[in-house]
Order: sequence, then structure tokens, then C-alpha cells
Amino acid sequence: MEIKEKIDELEEYNLCDHCFGRQFARLGRGLTNYERTWIIEEKKDDLENLDRESFKKSNIPEKDLEIDENCEICRGIYLEMDRFVKRIYNSLERYEFSTYLVGTRVPSEITESEERIWEEVGIQWVEPIKSELNRMIGKRLEKQLEEKKGLETDVDFKRPDINPVLDIEKDRVELQINSMLIHGFYNKLERGLPQTEWTCGNCRGKGCEECEWTGKRYQDSVEEIIAEPLIDMTKGLETKFHGAGREDVDAKCLGKREFVIEVLEPEKRDIDLEKLKEEVEEGGRVELYGLEFAEKDLVETVKKRRANKTYRALVKTEEKLDEDKLDDLEKIKGTIKQKTPTRVSHRRAEKTRERDVLDLNWKKIDDTTLEMEIKGEAGLYIKELISGDKEKTNPSVSNILGKNTVCEELDVIDIEKPEGYENV
Ligand SMILES: [Zn+2]
Ligand SMILES: [Zn+2]
Repeated sequence: MEIKEKIDELEEYNLCDHCFGRQFARLGRGLTNYERTWIIEEKKDDLENLDRESFKKSNIPEKDLEIDENCEICRGIYLEMDRFVKRIYNSLERYEFSTYLVGTRVPSEITESEERIWEEVGIQWVEPIKSELNRMIGKRLEKQLEEKKGLETDVDFKRPDINPVLDIEKDRVELQINSMLIHGFYNKLERGLPQTEWTCGNCRGKGCEECEWTGKRYQDSVEEIIAEPLIDMTKGLETKFHGAGREDVDAKCLGKREFVIEVLEPEKRDIDLEKLKEEVEEGGRVELYGLEFAEKDLVETVKKRRANKTYRALVKTEEKLDEDKLDDLEKIKGTIKQKTPTRVSHRRAEKTRERDVLDLNWKKIDDTTLEMEIKGEAGLYIKELISGDKEKTNPSVSNILGKNTVCEELDVIDIEKPEGYENV
């Protein structure tokens, strides 16, 4: 369709300058839609010579914008622009953010009128009213945030910190607040501390005698110890913890395990991570390293990491150790076959895994005790490597020493760091 032809067809509708110009929104750059209308009006006696080139700044006539309340599409909705911006501005009052995206829910009679006109004149060059409103409100909002709050903000279409959606009909703003994420590494200095909140299995969190009405099997977790000051600082709703694997509840972690913690619906984002570290470490149970703000996609990356780990294990035998057999422990290095351990069989599929023991050292402590340092591939079950788990792991320390052997204490003492974090 020619530009002129479309102008002629639009003649039969009563449209305001915004709505008329919006039907030509793809023509020319850096113009508002009403300026497009004015350029067309200026040329109305010479439409034969109106072309793409005509839509440029130097062709905009001097004019004041008037809004027509009888516009067949918008019914003068642009008159309410200031009120819309104020509504959204007020809804954001409590929040700190650096990226945003404004959305609007336009009354259906408006979008329907718009579509009816498109059916007649086509959709070439058009911009939907919704996009124009979002853009206009966004621009004004950004200006006000800077003027009134001194906030530097940017539009982000992919994952803005905050996404206010104005429902025009209901005159209400719905806020979608995206989580903020912190990436780092932790050490767990205490045994008997799970990584994340552990719900009481008996009452499933409702509270019962067994859990002393807390709803939790363990009263604390690494997550909760970090979350408490973090929620306090961000005024967030709750946290989600994503670890690069997890150590057993009864094992310490001294090897700095990678994690991402997510704060849902934070009010404050510009928090002091040094202060968070200090407050978490005050209790002497968890230490934090290399804290930094992170993007959402890091969660999946961290969860998929497969790091080699080194453990320190205190190994006890039922009977006196056989001195001659200790050197045979070397044989454990290499590939180990492990069937799914008995202790996790309720939640893991039954299968045989092959994992490598990469290095092994031991020191005799007394007649029935060894201290072992074992470096293993990700996924190697250490407790079973020691006990043999009724021959489900082969070879095992138990099997080589010819004694019933258990792992009494286990610490993760080193975790290989991903690229870029070697010096955490
Ligand atoms: Zn209009
Ligand atoms: Zn309970």
C-alpha cells in the first residue's frame, strides 16, 4: 500500500494525532507519532510528493499538541498520562532498582477499536497503542526518578529488576519484582548443619512434638544463617539457595563450596556485601568468600558444576589394624564401582556408578584409627568407599583392610574451583 492510499483510507475515522501518527510509526526515526501526523497534515495538499524521506525532524511544523477525547481508538487516554506515571511512580516508592520495564494493560475496547481499523487499512508501519503507552510512560517515569530520587535507571526488556504493569481499567499497578542474586563460596564449620532448611519429616513442617513445634528437623542451615542478615538488609520476602552440590549434614565443608543465593522481592538491592559477610561470620558457623552480585543464568551454571573434591576422613576399624595391609590401600586409586548407597536409595535411582579416586594418603592415629585424605571425582561417595556399604562399593577401604570399617568424621577440605575463581 502507498502512504497516500493509507492516509485516504484513514480519513473516514476520527483519530487523535497520537493514534493517527501511530499508523505510520515505522516511517522516519526519532519522531513522536503525533509529529508524524503533523508532517502528513503539513503536506495534505501535496500528498503525491509525500514519501519515506518526508518523515524527518526538519519537516515538523510548529504546533501545540491537542488531544481529542473523541478519538475512535483511544478516547483521549493520552490526557491521563501524568496520572498514569504518578500511579506507577508511587507504587515503586519503596523499591531500589536500576533496571525497569513498564507494562500496561489497555482496556479491551481500545485494543478492539485499534484492531478494527487495522482490519480495514492493514498493519504496515503501525505500532500498537500498548507499545506507545509503555514507551511514553517509561520515558516520563525515568525522568521523574532521576529528578526526584536521583536514580539512574535503564529499560531492560529481558530481566528488569522491577516490572510495574498498569492496569488502566482497574486503575491499579501490579508489580513484578525480580529476585536479586548473590554468588559466592561458603565454608561450613559445624557438623549437624544442613545446607538448606530441612523440614520435619514427621509433620511436614506443620509442627509436632518430635520437632518441638518448629516444623524443622534441624533448627538451622547454611542457607538460613546467610538469609537472616540478608533478608534484614534487603527487606526481601524469602531466599532460595542454589549450591554446587552439598556435603552431608554431618560433614564440615572447609573447601569453599560455590553457591548462589536468591532474594525474592527485595526492596533494597544496593547492599554492602562486606557487611553481609561480617554478620554471617559473627556466629562462627559459616564463612563466606568472594561475594558478588550475579545474574539469574548463573544459577543453572552453578548447579551443573562437577568439581573434584578432597576429603579428610577419620576412619575407624572394628578390630586392630593389620599393619601389613595398609600399603594395599594404594589399590583404591583408580576407578571405583559404586551401586547407589543404601542411605540415599530412597531418593536416588538404583544404578552402578563408576567414579575415580584421584589421590589417597593416610596416617595411622592409633591401632584402630586412620586419618585419610581422599581426592575423588565429583559424585564419589566417600562414606561408602570406606565402609564398602555391604559390597555395594568395590574396592573399598573395608574390603582391602579385611576389617569392618566406618567413616567416623568427614570434612570436605578442598573443592576444585571453576575457571576465574581459582583464587577465592
Ligand atoms: Zn487517539
Ligand atoms: Zn515436626
